[in-house]
Amino acid sequence: MAKVKNWQLKRDMDFPYEEKRPKRQWAIIFDLNKCIACQTCSLACKTTWTSGKGQEYMFWNNVETKPYGSYPLAWDVRVLEKLGHQDWAKNGEYQGKTIFEGAEVTEKAVHFNPKDEDWMYPNASEDDCAGNVPAGDHIQLPHDKWFFYLPRTCAHCTYPACLAACPRKAIYKREEDGIVLIDQARCKGYGECVRACPYKKSMYNPHTRTSEKCVGCYPAVEQGLQPMCVQNCIGKIRIMGFINPPWKAREDNPVDYLVHKKGIALPYYPQLGTEPNIYYIPPVHADPAYLTQMFGPNAMDAVAKYRALAKDGVTQGLFMLMGSTDRIMHRFSVKEGQARGFDEAGTEVVSVPVTEPLHVRADWDPKLGAVRNNTP
Ligand code: SF4
Ligand code: SF4
Ligand code: SF4
Repeated sequence: MAKVKNWQLKRDMDFPYEEKRPKRQWAIIFDLNKCIACQTCSLACKTTWTSGKGQEYMFWNNVETKPYGSYPLAWDVRVLEKLGHQDWAKNGEYQGKTIFEGAEVTEKAVHFNPKDEDWMYPNASEDDCAGNVPAGDHIQLPHDKWFFYLPRTCAHCTYPACLAACPRKAIYKREEDGIVLIDQARCKGYGECVRACPYKKSMYNPHTRTSEKCVGCYPAVEQGLQPMCVQNCIGKIRIMGFINPPWKAREDNPVDYLVHKKGIALPYYPQLGTEPNIYYIPPVHADPAYLTQMFGPNAMDAVAKYRALAKDGVTQGLFMLMGSTDRIMHRFSVKEGQARGFDEAGTEVVSVPVTEPLHVRADWDPKLGAVRNNTP
């Protein structure tokens, strides 16, 4: 095992291969306060990539209702239970073991192997805030029950467990954008990646007898476009871009700004140790202990920052840019009430007002002598 730097854990950790960061790293940020579980993202991905034979059950992008929803069934609970005690020091350093450090000698990672029945219920516990209790038993008003929606893709991890576990070296991480792909010609379908990925984002195709996973929509990314699940997000909760490690962060890079500068977007289950590259703005209404388990020790700090956004015009401007262009924004600026996004060449690709102008229409039209609404 090599010693590699994991900035999300604030320490070095064991990994089967030497540290080798790509030239730039694909990343998506999701604002969980805005997701409405419309599943448009899931369908955008499905119709683009997984409509073939053997792919019927695959949702490379899925949206689950937390805390009870999950696809495959209980994927996170089962991995976290096996990982054992997880704790963070006051300085933010992770004190427990990662999936690589806690693995048995014959394994590459702490894991569970989902069975066919675990993949049968993509919408399990949707909109369920009480955990499969028969309706009527659990309804109390007022109540403190909560849930939120968690959209998930492959995290194109810096230290991918799928890649670490593949005995055929069929999985590789692209130098140009950090996207993790499975070489279909090399893959023999042993399913080691399906077992090892803690997020359960590598899936076995029984028709081709190979494993498959989210490809980060690399053909779009190569043309400067955001992935299909991002472009089609109805709630405009997502932004895809390239993240730098904290020691190279740029304040005018939208992803760096939200993750490193502002500290409002956090990786999920960072304790697993793969340095995942999907980041979440935590929901403000959910249980603090649960959010801390899922997003690490800075979860409630991010919630406090979100609550204070009314005084932060720059972040508000960046939020207005989310979902306002199909292009990948490499740089953004917010000045004089206008938010702008720029592509890699520095060309402006989008410009939106930070505050949408308000137009009030009088309910009586004197010219037509008519009422303009039906509730005079
Ligand atoms: S399309 Fe956007 S809002 Fe709808 S479920 Fe997906 S992430 Fe949530
Ligand atoms: S999320 Fe899973 S499949 Fe995706 S790169 Fe990480 S370990 Fe591999
Ligand atoms: S990035 Fe592309 S391949 Fe991956 S989940 Fe989104 S739409 Fe699917």
